[in-house]
Amino acid sequence: MSNNILQLPLRQFKGVGPKVFSKLESMGLKTVEDLLFHFPLRYQDKTRLTSIGELQEGIDAVVRGTIRASGIAKGRRPTLIAKVDDGTGLLTLRFFHFRRAQALQLKVGDTITLFGQPRLVGGGPEFAHPEYIVGDREAQLEEALTPVYPVTEGMGQSTMRNLTRQALIYLTQNPPEDLLTDLPGNSPSIADSIKFLHRPPPKANIAAIVAGEHPAQLRLALEELVAHQISLLSRRARTQQKKAISVASQGKLAAAIGDGLPFKLTAAQTRVCSEILADLRKSTPMLRLLQGDVGSGKTLVAAMTAAHMVEAGHQVALMAPTELLSEQHFSGFQKWFEPMGVKVLWLTGQVKGKARKTALESIEAGEVDIVIGTHALFQDTVVFKSLGLVLVDEQHRFGVNQRLSLTQRGLNEVTPHQLTMTATPIPRTLSMVAYADLDCSTIDELPPGRKPITTVLIDNERRQSVIERVGNACQQGRQAYWVCALIEESEALDANAAEVTAAQLTDALPNLRIGLLHGRVSSQEKAEIMAAFAHGNLDILVATTVIEVGVDVPNASLMIIENAERFGLAQLHQLRGRVGRGAVESHCLLMYQSPLSQTARERLSVMRESQDGFVLAEKDLEIRGPGEVLGTRQTGVSSFRVAQLPEHDHLLEDAQSIASNLVSTDTARAEKIEQRWTRSLEAFAHV
Ligand code: ADP
Ligand code: MG
Repeated sequence: MSNNILQLPLRQFKGVGPKVFSKLESMGLKTVEDLLFHFPLRYQDKTRLTSIGELQEGIDAVVRGTIRASGIAKGRRPTLIAKVDDGTGLLTLRFFHFRRAQALQLKVGDTITLFGQPRLVGGGPEFAHPEYIVGDREAQLEEALTPVYPVTEGMGQSTMRNLTRQALIYLTQNPPEDLLTDLPGNSPSIADSIKFLHRPPPKANIAAIVAGEHPAQLRLALEELVAHQISLLSRRARTQQKKAISVASQGKLAAAIGDGLPFKLTAAQTRVCSEILADLRKSTPMLRLLQGDVGSGKTLVAAMTAAHMVEAGHQVALMAPTELLSEQHFSGFQKWFEPMGVKVLWLTGQVKGKARKTALESIEAGEVDIVIGTHALFQDTVVFKSLGLVLVDEQHRFGVNQRLSLTQRGLNEVTPHQLTMTATPIPRTLSMVAYADLDCSTIDELPPGRKPITTVLIDNERRQSVIERVGNACQQGRQAYWVCALIEESEALDANAAEVTAAQLTDALPNLRIGLLHGRVSSQEKAEIMAAFAHGNLDILVATTVIEVGVDVPNASLMIIENAERFGLAQLHQLRGRVGRGAVESHCLLMYQSPLSQTARERLSVMRESQDGFVLAEKDLEIRGPGEVLGTRQTGVSSFRVAQLPEHDHLLEDAQSIASNLVSTDTARAEKIEQRWTRSLEAFAHV
């Protein structure tokens, strides 16, 4: 019974007209239950007065006092300024936008009640654009902390508060079932936990809530993590029910390719290859993640895996995040495979018209063994004769959904095996959440002979001397990447910045050969420039972040990154990983624009100190949070409603064991939990 009431559509609520209803829908909120599980982002404390003398920087507060002065400061932009006194100190109010009536309203001598976020300016506290009520000496304080909800544009906080107030009445009358059992004795019920988070009482410990440590949050976060694990487990179970090609290769092709290499596989590469091969031998599809730091040689492992599938007579698709990288993989695979009579094809969005038609036909006819391309490769009409294996390079660039659609490509009820390679080592806790539906192999060793990369931080002001240094190094036969600023995710602006820099360098260093690579260069041209750089026909390659992933030119030993403070750690690590691949000592120059923010400073010094991708990934998670670290919003991780990482790392092991227990012993209950938490989560992920 009670559950049915929580399934009531929100249309019946007071205050829900067609407009509010459609906003709610776009947020994935359709039923009372959806609303109850839509938790505040943060809270405002309007339950008590704070004296001006006690105001702390950045902590929202309600203040009541007397207006002592009020007036408009004239200047280029008039500002309304007032001073408020409550006997403990003087508070400045500042309004950059205001109406005339507002200026008249702030009368000296009147009582004013304010709510705002103090900044300490020149020793005294200041509110910019506070909420306020003038005149009323008894202006009411709130009884509970005021929740602030995540909303889409056009949806007001007061509407959300009104709706959740109504939903909480239903909750009290029909408390939802406690689906987790065996919780510690002092755990609050799910109903109490939900109520608490929507309306924390006045004395609630805000510091505990902010830290994610309140028992109500822990109770809900645990259940949410359990729900997430259940969904990964059931996805995994669905995969296990599918059929895949069981590969009975002898390994002749892989061995022949290995023999042709100028080096031997590292022990880690060999171990990982055999883990993967064991999966290929099975008749259920492999879903495996290949982790390994930048430069650890993942491509070769992918090639060895492909060799087994091709030897068994089936096709392989290799998908890369950028055209540049797909082209590089193509030339590598061509070099390894074509001498063995294996047909490798490069397919990109640029292959059009008749050429495309012919290419598609040869794939469908099975004349091609290995198809390499960007993910565009999988978006349209590519039909394989017998696709046995999908290799996805630099996984973290793709979302879960894309990962799924790939496994659905097989014909005749056969699902291809899938190996995905990550660009960035993923902290263990995070991979438990994001990739628990995958098996994992790790290359924990770099090929021998790599020299460490020396990293230095340099103020932009010393750009001139950097140019000279780079010029000298290149005169002596070294090759350099010069990566330009990342500007607001605009490819066009990035390209401009790179053009300007390339022109400057060409002026300053007329004897050097300088190439330019950015998003607007055609793929044909990109390939040519990259080839020229790889063959030593260019000294400096000026580029945007198009070279971030995968690009491999062992002779390049200098990496200059401009405005390094704008990049995340993982990205800097990837970029730096372009050098240090050959036998010469490599240098990475991180140029920054001062003054640096605290976070940026922290980030850059971590880069100087560590070259270990796993260490950097842990730091990145600490500094920036999971959504950014995974480089995608689609993983579901950043749309958790209560759970926070890394704050709730300690709940993960429990969540995992509770989930696997439930899935095997009480499917019905497992489904209920999954439903409760994931149904609208999916909708919300699109916001
Ligand atoms: P990533 O793991 O970053 O994708 P790559 O596959 O691009 O790394 O390999 C980096 C470089 O190391 C390439 O030039 C590759 O040829 C080389 N390499 C791979 N395996 C070995 C090995 N076992 N010994 C020496 N060099 C290797
Ligand atoms: Mg790679």
